[in-house]
Amino acid sequence: MGREDHKYIFVLGGVMSGVGKGVVASSIGLLLQQKGYPVNLVKIDPYLNVDAGTMNPTEHGETFVLRSGLETDQDMGNYERFLNRDLSNQDYMTSGMVYRSVIERERALGYGGKCVETIPHVRDEILNRIEASAVGNDSRVSIIEIGGTVGDFQNALFIEAARVLKMQRPDDVLFVMVSYLPVPGTLGEMKTKPTQSAVRALNSYGVQPDFIVARSTHEIDEKRKEKLAISCSVRPDRIIAAPDIKSIYEVPLNFEREHLDKLLLDALRLPEKNKSTLAAWKKFVTAATNVKAKEVHIAIVGKYFDTGDFVLSDAYLSVIEAIKFSAAKLNRKPKISWVNAKDLSAEGGSASGGRKGGASAAAALAKFDGIIVPGGFGETGIEGKIKAIQLAREKKIPYFGLCYGMQLMVVEYARNVLGIKDAHTTEIKKTAADPVVDVMLEQKKHIADNKYGGTMRLGVYPCYLKKGTTARAAYKKELVEERHRHRYEINPKYIKQLEDAGLVFSGTSPDSILMEIAELPKSVHPFMLGTQFHPELQARPLAPHPLFTEFLKAAITRKKK
Ligand code: GLN
Repeated sequence: MGREDHKYIFVLGGVMSGVGKGVVASSIGLLLQQKGYPVNLVKIDPYLNVDAGTMNPTEHGETFVLRSGLETDQDMGNYERFLNRDLSNQDYMTSGMVYRSVIERERALGYGGKCVETIPHVRDEILNRIEASAVGNDSRVSIIEIGGTVGDFQNALFIEAARVLKMQRPDDVLFVMVSYLPVPGTLGEMKTKPTQSAVRALNSYGVQPDFIVARSTHEIDEKRKEKLAISCSVRPDRIIAAPDIKSIYEVPLNFEREHLDKLLLDALRLPEKNKSTLAAWKKFVTAATNVKAKEVHIAIVGKYFDTGDFVLSDAYLSVIEAIKFSAAKLNRKPKISWVNAKDLSAEGGSASGGRKGGASAAAALAKFDGIIVPGGFGETGIEGKIKAIQLAREKKIPYFGLCYGMQLMVVEYARNVLGIKDAHTTEIKKTAADPVVDVMLEQKKHIADNKYGGTMRLGVYPCYLKKGTTARAAYKKELVEERHRHRYEINPKYIKQLEDAGLVFSGTSPDSILMEIAELPKSVHPFMLGTQFHPELQARPLAPHPLFTEFLKAAITRKKK
């Protein structure tokens, strides 16, 4: 067990999902950390997938990969960005993970012949995992976000575990309900009833919220605070306004203004150790929300387009955030445009797109200051992405390729510079005569055995940077560690040919076998660089990623011309 007086804050959602529980949990984490308390953040995802790696990003947003390689939910990315530190496996759990350990233990006779049941065995496994995160982080306060909304079947067991913890340690456990207060257009008035109902639903589990975070388009007024306070038995000063704002990074500052940090410490009976020092954070937020800053216009050429802008930004969340951090550092306001890769392919005319082949595709892309092809899987839009890369190379538009974006940059170079017409990745064309991107040896077996869960090349690997390259100049060091998530690699058989034709592999694995960064020399192109890893996963508000910063610098220079 951890410390006797360890504190736990559970963050739950009421009324509906998608109103920012993750940002609330992250902001509480940052505030308490600033007050001098070591915190740990835990995300609970109630689905049965053992990790988030097997889900399509349009289903559940981007898959965020931890240092260890665990594939998790995008909220974990927010936690890392707010706390400005790495999280580990113990800080994440899904129902799938929890049930799997219970079942594996049962198969190993770990329950000594007992009938294994949801209560107590699964519940206790949840509590053990919450404890393990607290102990592993050596923290003082755990902030645990329970995914989903109160009233769901799937998360009820997690709420039950939290209730039991509260019963065992009444002074050490708090519940924060993040609720939504609609302002229907026909009424023009904020309604508290859905929140009242959500609190009743939570009460039916035997849990009483200590705080309500009132998410809405508007700030909750005193009258409605009183109403909620009376009907939900929550002190009015513990009902915290959380109106929509421009940037999620303003949330901790708003909470600080509402004295949430002090109120939480009071409720947990913890003394205020030091005054909060959010100075660096404030500086970042000021730069990131400066409406007067000049624009830099980036195109993201992607494929998850069929479900609207909202899903899109979720699917590429870390990329967007990484752009924001570097833009803020350079005092620029990023404007991001989504370019559907399918629309760029030269085939043209088909029902699935292909409307902007050839010259019109060039015109469509030329207006951007920089182009990104982010990570991706499968065939959809692939020729359009390659077209975009070719245009970026030929028209000298700054280009940044992330994982798939690097592999396709190499395919494009092989086809159009080396003249290897059938160059391809075997992910798309198994029988390609020239597989310049090919599946890694150990991966062949996984694919043959249908073992897709958690089997990619995942997590942090070291990468050596060559002297005199753009990558080395950006990082200002020789050895870096970056996070990966891929099955395919640049085929070693083609490296010499590619290098002889001018492509520079500026980053490699320590044994020089795996190509981690490809780039063109500055003398040839202002910025044409792709990484086999995902730099966006380690970009933070207070530590923007050097490659994103270099890419944006090149984009800004292009804009000036
Ligand atoms: N599909 C490619 C691979 O598996 C790239 C993966 C990615 O972009 N994350 O290697």
